[in-house]
Amino acid sequence: MNFEENINEYLRFDREHLWHPYTSTTHPLPVYEVESAQGVYLNLKNGKRLIDGMSSWWAAVHGYNHPVLNEAVRTQLDSMSHVMFGGITHRPAIELGQLLLKCVPPHLTKIFYCDSGSVSVEVALKMAVQYWYSKGLPEKCNFVTIRSGYHGDTWNAMSVCDPVTGMHSIFGSALPKRFFIPSPSCRFHDEWDETCLDPLKTCLEQHAEKIAAFILEPVVQGAGGMRFYHPRYLAEARKLCDACDVLLILDEIATGFGRSGKLFACEHAGIEPDIMCIGKALTGGYMTMAATLATDDVATALSTGSPGVFMHGPTFMGNPLACAVAKASVSLLLESDWAGNVHRIERQLTTVLAPAAELPQVADVRVLGAIGVIEMKKPVDMAVIQRQFVEAGVWVRPFGKLVYVMPPFIVTDEQLDILTSALLRVVSLQE
Ligand SMILES: *Cc1c(COP(=O)(O)O)cnc(C)c1O
Repeated sequence: MNFEENINEYLRFDREHLWHPYTSTTHPLPVYEVESAQGVYLNLKNGKRLIDGMSSWWAAVHGYNHPVLNEAVRTQLDSMSHVMFGGITHRPAIELGQLLLKCVPPHLTKIFYCDSGSVSVEVALKMAVQYWYSKGLPEKCNFVTIRSGYHGDTWNAMSVCDPVTGMHSIFGSALPKRFFIPSPSCRFHDEWDETCLDPLKTCLEQHAEKIAAFILEPVVQGAGGMRFYHPRYLAEARKLCDACDVLLILDEIATGFGRSGKLFACEHAGIEPDIMCIGKALTGGYMTMAATLATDDVATALSTGSPGVFMHGPTFMGNPLACAVAKASVSLLLESDWAGNVHRIERQLTTVLAPAAELPQVADVRVLGAIGVIEMKKPVDMAVIQRQFVEAGVWVRPFGKLVYVMPPFIVTDEQLDILTSALLRVVSLQE
């Protein structure tokens, strides 16, 4: 049946007036109306139930409609949903901070609450620039990053995304010019190869006096290519940054809170950044919230130099509802056997997805933690593949050549089996 003819009036309004992520307003692909969500399931308006393979973009690690998270929001709502953070503080912000300091890398002691992941990246970049400004080195104001990265959609976050695969290539000439080096060629499970550090070495040797920080996603590169690189790269990068007086910013927005098999992906390398961004799973997918964490050294330098304060402060900073649900979500995670769950998902994904590598359409299959990636030889036809996934009873949202899943940690073996079987079947149907 023709989608156009069956579209109801709500969907027609959506089609005519609402922008969706990375979508045309004149030729939008169909959207599916979700009426409710429960556990690992998205319940569609048409009665169909889908197993969610995306965790709403890395966020819903506990699944949907969780009684503990619902209760946290309700309780907070009854006292206050928001007050400004300028000159005011509140329990939800303090208690979330106390909890975060128990689980983030120990030298990160100063917390800046932000509205979204992209904003937390902006804040991290600004901190790095202001750090060197305060030290009397205002010329250290540029950044180096690796290719295939993704750091968000706002202006300076875009400037450190991969210039080709990072979804912002058309803005290239309008963006500040950053130093780009190749993504580490040494993959997570490969033997370590020293030479993949050479581009970083060369860049820092030549340009460190202009560079405030090296920014990258630790170990797992998300939306810029779904690549898993060798943790040793990060460990060596830490040393190089120290040797060259360049700060290290780690963007843990996708990887944080267990997704890669460690609570934070930098633990694979046994190192700590100077500045770290977290977001996505921070609130268990309930609301938008992120944070930028810094060491005492960074925070002290910012606060002792001129102008003596960090120049940032969003309207909804430290929103009490978001802090309350974030605290509940992080507690729930730490009390759960998240590591056991992620390793169980990793084992199953590894076994079940392996045969996909034999398909003629497939270029590569890789798994790390609760992330499974099938890289196709050609970009998929979104309109076709999206419908096939829904018909198969699963929610998977590929982009370009990448078909991938990162299910909620609560997914059972049986549910994961349905998800991965559908994945294999649908991939084998592509041209
Ligand atoms: C999603 C993401 C961001 C941007 O977060 P938003 O909340 O969408 O602004 C930044 N960095 C990484 C690694 C991400 O995965």
